[in-house]
Amino acid sequence: MADFTDLGVKDIRDGVASGEFTAREVAESFNAAVADAAVLNAFIVTTPEHALAAAEKVDADRAAGKQLGKMAGVPIGMKDLFATHGVQTTAASHILEGFKPEYESTVSSNLWAAGAGMLGKLNLDQFAMGSSNETSYFGNVNSPWRKEGSNAAMSPGGSSGGSSSAVASRIAPAATGTDTGGSIRQPAAFAGICGIKPTYGRCSRWGVVAFASSLDQAGPMARSVEDCAIMLEAMAGFDPKDSTSLQMDVPTWEAGLSADLKGKKVGIAKEYRMDGTDEAILKSWEQGKEWLRDAGAEIVDISLPHTKYALPAYYIIAPAEASSNLARYDGVRYGLRDLPEGAGLQDMYAATRAAGFGDEVKRRILIGTYVLSAGFYDAYYNQAQKVRALVARDFEHAWAECDVILAPTTPTASFPLGSLNEDPLTMYLNDVFAVPASLAGLPAMSVPAALTEDGLPLGLQLVGKPFDEQGVLNAGLAIQQRAGFTAKPEKWW
Ligand code: GLN
Repeated sequence: MADFTDLGVKDIRDGVASGEFTAREVAESFNAAVADAAVLNAFIVTTPEHALAAAEKVDADRAAGKQLGKMAGVPIGMKDLFATHGVQTTAASHILEGFKPEYESTVSSNLWAAGAGMLGKLNLDQFAMGSSNETSYFGNVNSPWRKEGSNAAMSPGGSSGGSSSAVASRIAPAATGTDTGGSIRQPAAFAGICGIKPTYGRCSRWGVVAFASSLDQAGPMARSVEDCAIMLEAMAGFDPKDSTSLQMDVPTWEAGLSADLKGKKVGIAKEYRMDGTDEAILKSWEQGKEWLRDAGAEIVDISLPHTKYALPAYYIIAPAEASSNLARYDGVRYGLRDLPEGAGLQDMYAATRAAGFGDEVKRRILIGTYVLSAGFYDAYYNQAQKVRALVARDFEHAWAECDVILAPTTPTASFPLGSLNEDPLTMYLNDVFAVPASLAGLPAMSVPAALTEDGLPLGLQLVGKPFDEQGVLNAGLAIQQRAGFTAKPEKWW
């Protein structure tokens, strides 16, 4: 059997369209690679039959001379936060174990309508809360990357760690992710792949298990900027079922790609020079400036003065919204029900929630309930909302001076699984560069930039104006072309 697993979205789509190979051959190849990589624990369930059925439909459509979709013949991984009809959807939690939705999320429907197939449901941090993929009820996800000369299991990042691990290990050409405060960008950076969180509202949240609704956004994770552009076009679009969905046409991002940045200004925020950032990260940031200059851009200094308050504000707002969203898991409607002998309704709620949620999820529910409680609402929640407005305003001022902002994606490269578990604050710091754009609802992307001395990937982040995914993708493309990042993890699985 020919091996197609090194191919990305564009290669597969074009190869299937031209008849160079069939969608079925591609699906078979990735299905086999998924089955062979169980030790990565990237998937919670695999759905090879879904991938094959979608591929056969594409092959039949092609034979019948029908118009093929944007993702025709591309089998992808679906983060297990997206409801998939008849296929278990858990958000990596025990409380949703066994839940098979009667409906399909808008984003996944859009992808199937564009001709994509599903390899399976990808593991993640439980309810998308985490930065290392260690809070899943279904076990840690392993990164395919290892430090040179070490066998220590490394974190693929989180919460979209199943997605980053699968795409980096080439068991999927692309995957969906979701980003509330960094969960597409940080795992993309850790795994040496690309990932873009679009402007809030671009992708429908309908059918996506809610974490913090004012922040949650879906986006693609793939190995190139082009592949992200193609997949985002297929995912995005107005959806009347999501009241925060943007009523705007989906731009033709793929056709609009250009790495020529002449006339563009790239902002460098002085507040992003933070203590605790690795030397290697600072070096790659410098290198990134050089690359963008080489692409024709002018580099300008900017200030985002409220940056240091963004992370604390996020860790009030996100848990507050989570505590409300997660109130629906009560043992009555979905998944797990723990009904002790002789128990009443309240006991059932308590027993189900005690057994069904993991520690990190409980921590967030407790924090969220606390900051929303009568005596503390003004001191914490309202204050955090004010900070959020100030962070957003910082960006609005910055857009008077630049078109796109270049920053590191993360303060460090990946770390060994288990090394930060006892230290939630350091874990939260992973998203220090990612969270400001989330609070402001801006499009932001991570692109692989370099390897550290011990062989781990580093990402650079581009943040754009509202609705300017094109500007983000184009600056990302300029970096991709100059970074020439071709490193791939050595197969040990
Ligand atoms: N790591 C962050 C958190 O734990 C972000 C998660 C996300 O974006 N889903 O909340």
